[in-house]
This record gives sequence, structure tokens and C-alpha cells, in this order.
Amino acid sequence: MKRKITVIGSVNMDLVTLADRTPKAGETILGKAFHTIPGGKGANQAVAAARLGAEATFIGCVGDDDFGRLMTQRLQDEGINIDYVKPVTHVSTGIAAITISEGDNRIIVVPGANSHVTAEYVQKHEEVIAASDAIVLQLEIPVDGVKKAMELARKHRVKIILNPAPFQVLSKEMLLLADYLTPNEHEQAELLAAGNWTEAEREEILQKCIVTRGAAGASIYQNGEKLIPGYPVEAVDTTGAGDTFNGALAFSLSGNADLEEACRFANAAGALSVTKLGAQGGMPTSEEVAEFLQ
Ligand code: ADP
Repeated sequence: MKRKITVIGSVNMDLVTLADRTPKAGETILGKAFHTIPGGKGANQAVAAARLGAEATFIGCVGDDDFGRLMTQRLQDEGINIDYVKPVTHVSTGIAAITISEGDNRIIVVPGANSHVTAEYVQKHEEVIAASDAIVLQLEIPVDGVKKAMELARKHRVKIILNPAPFQVLSKEMLLLADYLTPNEHEQAELLAAGNWTEAEREEILQKCIVTRGAAGASIYQNGEKLIPGYPVEAVDTTGAGDTFNGALAFSLSGNADLEEACRFANAAGALSVTKLGAQGGMPTSEEVAEFLQ
């Protein structure tokens, strides 16, 4: 049986510039190359899940423009159900301006049509959410849209994975709606620093956390912190590693893997993804992950 994963989130065109170094404020330098690469955390996570073999559905909005049409087509080409991707007029498709230099990436996101994925829009798709094995969310769409999706998933007992990225302060009520929270190390630090948690609440949030730690792997907190080690690879571009991890985690958990097993699978998928340029470029199939793990 196919695993039904619904991603409610962002579509962005990644405008990627490669340079030898990062320019200082006010400085202009010559870059080495420029690429337009389909991205957005939501779209990336849907592609990650679909490549692995999930029956993936995407709920989101694009602008009524070339980037929007191109990316909707791309999602469809990946086998993702695009029936709930809405083109919105008078607004641009979301973009992410990414600079890669000195082995690091710097990113500015302009949400555009992604800001139309509101609670009202999400509510229209209750049946789609109800029919899913798991939903996957990030924070590149309005928080009320994210919260509505979580409430609907809760109502229908659908697994909820919330990737709290890019970081923003969320209510305790909202964090507790999630079954799994998948911050990276920076986001986890911000998450725990932001709330006025009691020790018990902090523990409750931690129990839901799967913290991604780059090449080191990911930590889980069921019985104290446990690091599930990552896999050494030659990293070419780490953009989208977290997205691959999230899509893979959703895929594995929907197949009833336990959390440790799901993290190992997601670490392997994440490692493979950094070996190629572009957020979606290196996202592996299940066969590729199986081969890598042999
Ligand atoms: P984000 O992209 O959200 O900052 P991370 O950098 O923590 O997230 O990466 C997510 C996951 O991808 C990691 O937990 C790990 O499994 C994998 N990963 C990331 N970078 C590397 C790397 N250099 N080598 C191997 N695996 C990596």
C-alpha cells in the first residue's frame, strides 16, 4: 500500500548564485555561476517524499506567473498530486535568493503567493488531510494555515510532522499539536529559548523533537538525548538537506518504522541529498537509499 503523505507548504523558485566568497556590505563582486532551481521547503519536502515512493499531495499557492507554472509542472512531473495547488493573481510566486560561498549558504525568502495558504484555504482541503497517513508542515506559509492543518490532522488522527523552519515563535498549544518537531540545531536552540516553559513543558516539547545536526546526524529525546549518527559523504551543496530529511522521515514513519529506524533512513536520504547541487537535485529514491545503506 502506498503511503499517503500530504505536504502543506511553500513553493519558491530558488535563485542560486555561486561565488568564491561572501561580499561585504556595500561591496560588489563577480560571481561564478547562476542557477534557477525549483525549491521552497514545502515543495522540496513533497518531492523528497514522492521520490522515495510516497503517494504525495501538495497543498499550496503559486503566483499566476512563469515561475508558478514551471514549478507546478515540476511537482506534477515528480508524480505529486497538484489538484490543490492554486495559482493566485496579482502576486508573485515565492522566491528564495540563495548565495553559496565558502561552503556555506545564505538565504532570503520572499513569500509572495505562499502567504495565501491561510487557515481558510487549508480548511477547504479537510478531506485531503483526513485521507493522509501523515502531514508535513514548515513555517514558510502563514502560521494560521499551519495551525489549521494541524488541528484538522489531529481531528482525523493523522500523524503530524512540523519542521519549525525558518524559526518563528509559536504558541505552546501549537507546538503540542505536533507529533514530531524537526528543528535543526539552531532552530532548536531558538525554540527552547523563546518559550516561557516550565520544566515539564520543556520536557514535553523535547520528547517530540528530532533535531538535525548536519553531518553529525540527528538527535532524539525519548529517554534522554540519543544521537543517531549521520553518514560521511562528500558534501557539494547542503541546501535542502533538512527538507530531504523531513520528507524521508515522514515516508519512513508512515510505513510504521520506529523513530530510530526512521531517523537512520532520513539520515541516509539527507546524506545522499548533499552530494548533488540544488535542493531537489540529490533527493534519492528508496532504492538508492537501500543501496547506500548496504
Ligand atoms: P538543515 O538543512 O535544515 O539545516 P541539517 O543541516 O541539520 O538541516 O541537515 C539535515 C540532515 O541531512 C542531517 O540530520 C543529516 O542527516 C543530513 N546531512 C546534512 N548535511 C550532511 C553532511 N554534510 N553529510 C552527511 N549528512 C548530512
